[in-house]
Amino acid sequence: MKTHVKALVVGGGAVGTGIAYHLAKFGWDDVMLMERDELTSGSTWHAAGLLPLFNMGYATSHIHDYSVKFYKTLEEETGLNAGFSVVGNLRMAQTQDRMDEYMLYASTAETVGIPYEWLTPQEIKERYPLVRTEDLKGAIYHPTDGYINPADVTMAMAKGARQRGVTIERKWQVDGYDWAGDHWNVTVTKMVEKGGNLVPSDEQMVIAAEHVVTATGNHAQRTARLLGLKIPAIPVEHQYIVTEPDPALVDWRKDNPEHPVLRDADAKWYVREERGGWILGPYEYGAPARFAYDVPETFRADLFPLDLERIEEEYMSMIHRIPSSETVGLKDDYNGPICYTPDGNPLVGPAPGLRNMWLAEGFSFGITAAGGTGFYLAQMMVEGEAEIDMASLDPKRYGPWMTTEYAVTKNEECYSHVYILHHPDEEREAARPLRTAPAYDRQKAAGAQFGQVNGWERPNYYGPKDAPDSFDHDARSFRRGGWWQYAVEEAKAIREGVGLIDATAFAKHRISGSGATAFLDWFTCNKLPKVGRINLTYALTDAGTTRTEYTIVRLAEDDYYLVSAGAWAAYDGDYLRKSIEDFMAAGGDAVWASEVTNQWGVFAIAGPKSRDVLKALIRDADPETALSNKRFPWLSAREIELGMCPVNAIRVAYTGELGWELHHPVEMQNYLWDRLMEAGASHGLKLVGARAQNWLRQEKSYRAFGTELGRDATPLEADLPRFVDVSKAFRGKAAMEALGVRSTCVTLLIDGPEDADPWGREALYDGETKVGRLTSGGYSVAFGKSIGMGYVTPALAVPGQKLKVRMFNQLWDAEIVGDSPYDPTNERIRADG
Ligand SMILES: Cc1cc2nc3c(=O)[nH]c(=O)nc-3n(C[C@H](O)[C@H](O)[C@H](O)COP(=O)(O)OP(=O)(O)OC[C@H]3O[C@@H](n4cnc5c(N)ncnc54)[C@H](O)[C@@H]3O)c2cc1C
Repeated sequence: MKTHVKALVVGGGAVGTGIAYHLAKFGWDDVMLMERDELTSGSTWHAAGLLPLFNMGYATSHIHDYSVKFYKTLEEETGLNAGFSVVGNLRMAQTQDRMDEYMLYASTAETVGIPYEWLTPQEIKERYPLVRTEDLKGAIYHPTDGYINPADVTMAMAKGARQRGVTIERKWQVDGYDWAGDHWNVTVTKMVEKGGNLVPSDEQMVIAAEHVVTATGNHAQRTARLLGLKIPAIPVEHQYIVTEPDPALVDWRKDNPEHPVLRDADAKWYVREERGGWILGPYEYGAPARFAYDVPETFRADLFPLDLERIEEEYMSMIHRIPSSETVGLKDDYNGPICYTPDGNPLVGPAPGLRNMWLAEGFSFGITAAGGTGFYLAQMMVEGEAEIDMASLDPKRYGPWMTTEYAVTKNEECYSHVYILHHPDEEREAARPLRTAPAYDRQKAAGAQFGQVNGWERPNYYGPKDAPDSFDHDARSFRRGGWWQYAVEEAKAIREGVGLIDATAFAKHRISGSGATAFLDWFTCNKLPKVGRINLTYALTDAGTTRTEYTIVRLAEDDYYLVSAGAWAAYDGDYLRKSIEDFMAAGGDAVWASEVTNQWGVFAIAGPKSRDVLKALIRDADPETALSNKRFPWLSAREIELGMCPVNAIRVAYTGELGWELHHPVEMQNYLWDRLMEAGASHGLKLVGARAQNWLRQEKSYRAFGTELGRDATPLEADLPRFVDVSKAFRGKAAMEALGVRSTCVTLLIDGPEDADPWGREALYDGETKVGRLTSGGYSVAFGKSIGMGYVTPALAVPGQKLKVRMFNQLWDAEIVGDSPYDPTNERIRADG
């Protein structure tokens, strides 16, 4: 066996094999794949092999789309038939809400280029007479979708990988990882058969691998322990049953091609044809998590016993939908572990805190995702970045606060939620509240309806006080939900009076040391602020795209306070720490970084009356002048005292009104809250949630991280040249300039449907031509219509350009407006007093 390799891929399931294949395809000629048992002996062997293209996420849609196209090429390349049946996929809707969901999903499909068509109940009946249609509203049909034989496609990828020089070693288990500064020393143990079990022998070796990728499926918890990491990939039981041949189906098939896969989302199942019968795969409630700490040695390519009772409801609903299935008996059943993560997306990308260690864990649609994951992860490893933004899959989206019990609870929830209505304003209930700032109870008492960001509870909007627990659930919609009017009132309050937003979840880092200034000057693309001032700036990837957006406050000559998006604390912190290591290794002076997210609460007060509210609490200075433009100009930071609370106040407002962010010691949060409420009462201070804030920032064209800003666009493409100082050298600069501007970020006002706003997933058209996509959407109280931000072909990115937005299957008028359509000269933010 080789003892030195460029990359070692651990795990010979569909995912590991897809990665090994693509690393070789991208040009790495020294790749080894190691499997403790046989290829496909994990979850891969018993998967049903469906390849659903339906996906609400942009990155995952690309991944699935790549896989489906790639699998079709494998036979020609390897001579092995991967058993791909392109039978189409018919997703049925029993309710109008479900049709709305499909129409929103179709927006994502359209932006990615996935074909689909709409069928009425009558058209379904005409094409597929075995399906009962009286209680259906319609369906979305994917002609290019289907199913594949999971073992065959894995073997075809393995053969393709071997043909490209990959070595595959079976019956070797990875048992230890040691970082040696520029490579990993990986300890591997020969596995032997003993009494039907697979056990480690005494034979061990050490392999030096420049890069390691783990794709260990159900063994992710063991991998996590070996690496000293937390990986929230824990499997849940998933069953499917196979029926005897259905005579009606056999008869129909005499004159017809194979039946498309059926999905009755409202009944929580998929069904596909299998040798004249049906496979029913339900996503039922109550499926338990398994192997929360480890996979027992006795469990190999095994299954759990069938729990028919748990899927009885889904079974009965299959009989309802396909009446001919009532009389056919059961032939076979499978109940196996299917890996999940708290949000259902796999964990793909660099491991936190480690170098050259890549994770590909937690796949619940691993057969569908294997090819695309292989492609985009290999691209990231070999070329430095993937062409799509993989942040939504990044392993660092969960911070160190995550525990096994949290993962178990959320993964079970995620499994049972596969077929719920995926409202874009959905907030999942399990494992909450968990991370709460002190003011949580006060906010709740005031009617707050919370969302969760990185585990933190953050008010989305304030509904009625004493609302029933079901209020937010019932308020969700694909259109304007029951919360919409509350958000409108909140947005108006900030535009006309004063509002208070809890922004405690912001990620916060302190950077200091004699090298801090030189480091940040290289790490970020804008000029650094002077002491007491702040700047908005970006850290770029080496590929020149946006890795993180920071508000930088310069507290002293070599002391900085960095604020970034709340959802990304671990993701940002990891890049920061690794970049500091690189900087110091290259001879830079000492830099210290510490995450202070949990030490500082943040309230953002905004609106024309915000100064008046704060004046009432200022004790240590003349309240009449302390907040004036002269003493506290826009984009500056000051330490002020609000009653007995010391506050680092920053004069910025993400809403585009006069305002301050009040960064305060978190233990004084309730004190400060109470004082602000008292002082605000006479000015009509209103509590405001994240939804209204998201609308308001679009009126100012403020880009948001994770939507307009990410690793698929440069700050120049985000149309932010004023925050890029091209006169200095900074990380990613040459790559950014070489990329040019491929598409441009714009703001649009939209004349959409009367009862709906865009969600930021919709396709943009110029006549018949698709020219871009929305990345954000919402309602503008200032303009009294829908608003959105997105990316279009650069030539079209001019104010006044008329476009169309596809919403609910219709094209609606939209017009590109100049940056910051509301208060373009920032008069309101700069208001003196
Ligand atoms: C009943 C059922 C039906 C399913 N149907 C579908 C479907 O229709 N479509 C779909 O896309 N997905 C489906 N899935 C999910 C799919 O099976 C998984 O997502 C997929 O198989 C995951 O592949 P993987 O390579 O990540 O993991 P696995 O296939 O589990 O492979 C991981 C491999 O890593 C090896 N390994 C672990 N630790 C080590 C180590 N230390 N050293 C060496 N080797 C190691 C294991 O032996 C194993 O072979 C289904 C799952 C179930 C349970």
